[in-house]
Amino acid sequence: MDFSFTAEQERFRREVREYLEREVPPRWKELGYLIWEETDESWDITRQWNRKLGEKGWLALTWPRVYGGQERSHIDQLILDEEMARAGTPTGIETAITIGWVCPTIMLFGTEEQKLRYLPDAAKGRIIFCLGYSEPNAGSDLAAVRTTAVEDGDHYVINGQKVWTTVAHRADYCWLAARTDPDAPKHKGVSMFVVDMKSPGITVKPLINILGFHSFNEVFFDEVRVPKENLVGQKNMGWYQLAVALDFERSGVGTPARMHRTIDRLVAYCRQTRRNGRLLSEDPVIRKKLARLSVEAEVLRLLCYRITWIQEKGKTPNYEASLTKVFASELLDRLANTGMEILGPYGMLDRGSPRAALRGEILRLYLTSPSMGIGGGTSEIQRNIIAMRGLGLPRK
Ligand SMILES: Cc1cc2nc3c(=O)[nH]c(=O)nc-3n(C[C@H](O)[C@H](O)[C@H](O)COP(=O)(O)OP(=O)(O)OC[C@H]3O[C@@H](n4cnc5c(N)ncnc54)[C@H](O)[C@@H]3O)c2cc1C
Repeated sequence: MDFSFTAEQERFRREVREYLEREVPPRWKELGYLIWEETDESWDITRQWNRKLGEKGWLALTWPRVYGGQERSHIDQLILDEEMARAGTPTGIETAITIGWVCPTIMLFGTEEQKLRYLPDAAKGRIIFCLGYSEPNAGSDLAAVRTTAVEDGDHYVINGQKVWTTVAHRADYCWLAARTDPDAPKHKGVSMFVVDMKSPGITVKPLINILGFHSFNEVFFDEVRVPKENLVGQKNMGWYQLAVALDFERSGVGTPARMHRTIDRLVAYCRQTRRNGRLLSEDPVIRKKLARLSVEAEVLRLLCYRITWIQEKGKTPNYEASLTKVFASELLDRLANTGMEILGPYGMLDRGSPRAALRGEILRLYLTSPSMGIGGGTSEIQRNIIAMRGLGLPRK
C-alpha cells in the first residue's frame, strides 16, 4: 500500500496551485463565497472561468483528446479537484452536472456522432446540461417517471413535467428521462434523451431556494419535438444509463477539500476570537469538536481516494459512491452545526451585517447543508443501496 503521490503528480499539484493563485478572478475572491450561489454576477464569473479552464484543457482532464480532454489519469483529476476546492475557484454545480455526470454517460452509451456533437463543446466550457430526472411523483422512486416520449416520424414527442431541475434556466440541453413504453415494467420502459432547451414547447419556471436564489426550476414539456437521433443508448434501456449517471453523481471527490477549507477558516476564527476573556482556541470543548471534524474530514478524504482508485481501474464506483455520499452529506451537517455552535449568536447574522462572523458563510452552509442529503438520491436511498449492493442483503 502506498499513500504518496509520485514526483510527477506532486509537480502537477504545484503547477495547478501556482496557476490558481495567479488566475482566480479577484472579484470572486472579494465575493468570498464558501458555497456556490447563483446570481447573474456569479454565473458570469463561473462561465468565464470554465471557458478559461476549457481552453487550457483542464475542464475535462481525463477525457480522450478527440473529445477535448487530455487523457490524464483520475489521480491528476483528483489533484486538480483538491486544489480548486482549496483555492475556492468559481466552480458551479453546472460543471459537475455537465463534465462529471452527463458527458461521461454519453461517452459510455452514446453513438460516435453524439459524442462528437456534445463532448468537445462541453470540454471547452461552451455548453451545459441540466438533469431532467425528478418529477412531482418520481423522486426516490425515479423509475416511476411519467413524462412520455412518443414516436412520431423522425421525432419523439415529449409531454410531462420535471421538478427541482437545477440550472434549467441557464442550460443549453436537458439530459432527460422519459417513458417510452407505458406497458413495460417501470424499470424497463424508460429512455434517455438529449433535449435542446430552446425547443418550442418547453417552459421553465423558477423555484427559489432557502437562500433566496434561483437555482432550481420546474420544467414543463408540451408537445416538444425531439429528433430521433437525440435518443442516447438503447430505447427502453435508459434506466441503466440513469443508474450509471447517478453513480457518477454520487462519486464527488472535491468535497473533502472544501470541508478542510471550512475547518481551516473556523480554526483561524477561533485563534483570533476571544469570548469571556479567553481565546476560543483555548476552550477544550471547541478544540475537541474541531479535532473530531478534522478526523472525519480525513476519513472522507480517504473514501474519496478509494473512489478515484476504482475509477483509475476503469470501473464505475457503485455502493462505494453511495457510502461516500452518505458520509459526506452527514459530515457536512455536523460541520455546519459545529460551526454555528462555535460562532454562537454571531453565526445567525448574514453577510452585510457588520457583526456577521465569517461573512455569514457558516449560516449559509447551515441553511443549505441538508440539501446534500437529498439531491442525487436521499441518504435513506443511499443506505438501501449500501445494504443491497454492498452488504448483499435482500431487496426487501
Ligand atoms: C440541491 C438539490 C438539487 C437537485 N437537483 C435536481 C436536478 O437537477 N434534477 C432533478 O431531476 N432532480 C434534482 N433534485 C431532486 C432530488 O433528486 C430529489 O429531491 C430526491 O431524489 C428525493 O426525491 P423527492 O424530493 O421526490 O422525495 P421523496 O422521494 O418523496 O422522498 C421523501 C422522503 O421519503 C424517503 N424515502 C422515499 N423512498 C424511500 C425508501 N424506499 N426507503 C426509505 N426512505 C424512502 C426519502 O428518503 C425522503 O426522506 C435536487 C434536489 C436537491 C435537494
